[in-house]
Amino acid sequence: MHQSTLAQLSTALESNQISSEELTRHYLERCKQFNKSLNCFITINEESALTQAKLADIQRKTGDATPLTGIPIAQKDIFCTNGVKTSCGSKMLDNFIAPYDATLVRKMNLAGIVNIGKTNMDEFAMGSSNETSFYGAVKNPWNKETVPGGSSGGSACVVAARLSPAATGTDTGGSIRQPASLCGITGLKPTYGRVSRYGMIAFASSLDQGGPMTQTAEDAGLIMNVIAGFDERDSTSAEHPVDDYTARLNDSIEGIKIGLPKQYFSEGLDSNIAELIQEGIKELEKLGATCKEIELPNTELSIPAYYVVAPAECSSNLSRFDGVRFGHSCENPRDLSDLYCRSRSEGFGKEVKRRIMIGTYVLSSGYYDAYYLKAQRIRHLIRLDFQKALADVDVIAGPTATGTAFKLNEMMGDPVSMYRSDLYTVSANLAGLPAISIPAGFVNNLPVGMQLIGNYFEESRLLNIAHRFQQATDHHKAIPEGFE
Ligand code: GLN
Repeated sequence: MHQSTLAQLSTALESNQISSEELTRHYLERCKQFNKSLNCFITINEESALTQAKLADIQRKTGDATPLTGIPIAQKDIFCTNGVKTSCGSKMLDNFIAPYDATLVRKMNLAGIVNIGKTNMDEFAMGSSNETSFYGAVKNPWNKETVPGGSSGGSACVVAARLSPAATGTDTGGSIRQPASLCGITGLKPTYGRVSRYGMIAFASSLDQGGPMTQTAEDAGLIMNVIAGFDERDSTSAEHPVDDYTARLNDSIEGIKIGLPKQYFSEGLDSNIAELIQEGIKELEKLGATCKEIELPNTELSIPAYYVVAPAECSSNLSRFDGVRFGHSCENPRDLSDLYCRSRSEGFGKEVKRRIMIGTYVLSSGYYDAYYLKAQRIRHLIRLDFQKALADVDVIAGPTATGTAFKLNEMMGDPVSMYRSDLYTVSANLAGLPAISIPAGFVNNLPVGMQLIGNYFEESRLLNIAHRFQQATDHHKAIPEGFE
């Protein structure tokens, strides 16, 4: 049954072929069995999941169900879950039991999902490999010597290994799409503000966005139908009307115009990946799309701009973890300064400290204009590049990541190379645009993702194109050996 998609499980539950309790027990067994070798969960919610499942079975019987009622879904450990540990992958929050639900979690609970567990992640979502987690690295189920990507690596791993039919992630500079690409699943980063950030622990508030990580675009649509929408508790939440994200999945894509940015197919890209992406694009052409080359001239500047803006915002957001109001407190502090200093030294890992220091530096007087302000100007130019391009084409297509899953420890000593590998994902965050990564094939038995970037609030169109692509291809159906 774990080979099934969310949509198939929904039908099976609806027609009483299976109960939520049976389904949940099956997935819980898999989670416990495989978590030992994959390390993809920080917490498995055995008891509460079964309680939710039993309730869901009653709701199904009384006709009180939504399409997701009774389906297990894993939540990234960045989302506050009432009464459950919410660590954000950090020692700083190792003892934190959230006293409330994030809006995304609350909405999913109201829709009747079963929250099966909290997934491992890079500490405070900073990283591209899931190796910065206080709880240790997650393994990629396609090859356990490689990383699953990050920061939502635990979620991507869980879906790829079929330990849960779907999971949630967050994407500040690629953290839904890049792990989706490296693990062979589908990951949608919605438009900035489409999904509430309330209760989602902040990394870089002007870039962070939560979204679904699933086997298929159809499943992502089912989750978007639950989580999208305005939230008065999030001042940056968009008041834009919400779509029915599954209504247009089967629309024809005849005549859709796809832009291929010259800058996304340049030297930095592995030639085998480039070939697969070209094949994917040919597939879309067979379905009636037309393609043309476009320019996103400031792509090169997206990495330096992102790695100024994101650390700047993180240094401000993480100042709340002072060992007094929030977070780990050191033992026997000598005085207040010792308390701050040791609580933070002990509570934060190396990458988080690096980002806080960079962020504090670029915001300090004397350097603000040279770094932060300049980065904001570049951000504006990147937004304009996209506006210009999307005036001419409907969506932009290209690779999601510069490579396939890399070896554990390979990049940890070289943060700049790790940062560079985010080249194709950070721009969509800087511009606030929606983007999706879908499986496009394999290079040396490791998955490769194709990225589609759309105009603001055009998630439905992205899902439509992705769904038609998945109807015509089988890449998304592959399951790693040992997890079938
Ligand atoms: N890899 C990027 C970073 O480390 C993106 C992380 C994310 O999207 N959360 O900042």
